[in-house]
Amino acid sequence: MAIDPHGMDEDEIDPRDMDGPQRKYTDFDCPECNANNPLDEAITDGVELRCCYCGEEFKARLTEEGRLKLRSL
Ligand SMILES: [Zn+2]
Repeated sequence: MAIDPHGMDEDEIDPRDMDGPQRKYTDFDCPECNANNPLDEAITDGVELRCCYCGEEFKARLTEEGRLKLRSL
């Protein structure tokens, strides 16, 4: 199977995930370069993340709706 760099998982919305306030993020898309960064552990509020492609660092924030926001450090 060919590896398509743009064939990363789209954000699939699983209806079962919609009712929980906290969704687990075990990866993030870099706002700078759009690279998908898989992580060993789920992202928690306030954790610092680093894109392993462009090296940018971000602070993760989980909103009350359970959405992930990244702020450049
Ligand atoms: Zn990046």
